[in-house]
Parts: sequence; C-alpha cells; structure tokens
Amino acid sequence: MEPRSAAAAGRDFPYTAGTTCYIEVHEDGRVTHGDSKGAYERAVAGKSRLFAVWPGQWSSDLFVIDDLDEYAKAHGIKHDQDRTGLSEHVHDVEWIEQTAFNTNPRSPYISIRLTMRCGCEIRDLTAFAKQMCEQRGWDIATSVGWGSSSGPGGTSYSLRVRRKSLSA
Ligand SMILES: [Zn+2]
Repeated sequence: MEPRSAAAAGRDFPYTAGTTCYIEVHEDGRVTHGDSKGAYERAVAGKSRLFAVWPGQWSSDLFVIDDLDEYAKAHGIKHDQDRTGLSEHVHDVEWIEQTAFNTNPRSPYISIRLTMRCGCEIRDLTAFAKQMCEQRGWDIATSVGWGSSSGPGGTSYSLRVRRKSLSA
C-alpha cells in the first residue's frame, strides 16, 4: 500500500486531531508511536520517517508526513505567525488589572485586560504564554477561560496571570 501525501492535504491535514495516530519508522526498522519533538528532529535529520494513520473514516489510509515544516508548526515545535497571530518579536503590550474580577485576594492569579500595541493578535494562547514567559517572565494561565473583545480602541484580551510574575 502506497502512503498518501500529507503535504498534498496542506493545512487541512488534521495534524493535531486526537484521532490522528503517528508512527515513526526508524533507520533500523524499529517502529514507535508518537509525535514528540524528538520524532520531528529525527525525521528532519533523515534518521526516521513519520507516518500518520486515521482510524475511522479513512481507516485504510496511511499518510507520509512529507511536510515536516507544517507538521512542526501544527504541533507548536516551530513558531507559526499565521496560526498564532503573533510575530516573533518582543511584544509591546499594555495591561491593566481587572479589579472587579479579582475578588479572591488569596488567588495567585489575577485577571488583566491586555492590548497588543505591536499589532499582533492572540489566536493561540499557549503560544502567547510561551512568548511572554520568555520575554517578561509572565506566568499566564492557559487552562482557564480567556477572551477577547473589540472596541473603538482595538482588540483587548482578558487573561489570567500569576500576580507575582507580573510585578517582576
Ligand atoms: Zn507583537
């Protein structure tokens, strides 16, 4: 059976769908499962080949991951400006505490309203949190709800950030 091309499906390939199962075929013929960063690095180095199978609708289909760049962007291994809305630069942000939401003084996290003066958009909170951690040491909660709202002053975002990381 010839594997189909994931690259041919482009962005529509469900790289991060829970039903997509990755198979890594190593140089020595060993077969392992998973989509780790290590698998990506070995594939780029030509030490293994990555395949994906979809159980279900396309159960008979095997795909070769022939666009490793797209694969890495989908998995957050490589930064993707289009997917995340975020440039790879030091963001210029303005924030204020949303005191009305911070009624629990014992909570380590506070709610802030943030605007991106650099013109970026937050489409992927995990990617933004990673960048802000590297740039300013912020500890942004990514497992709780966040939101954005648009107004005359542009788009602002409601986020929860660890209080101590903000004052640093
Ligand atoms: Zn920015």
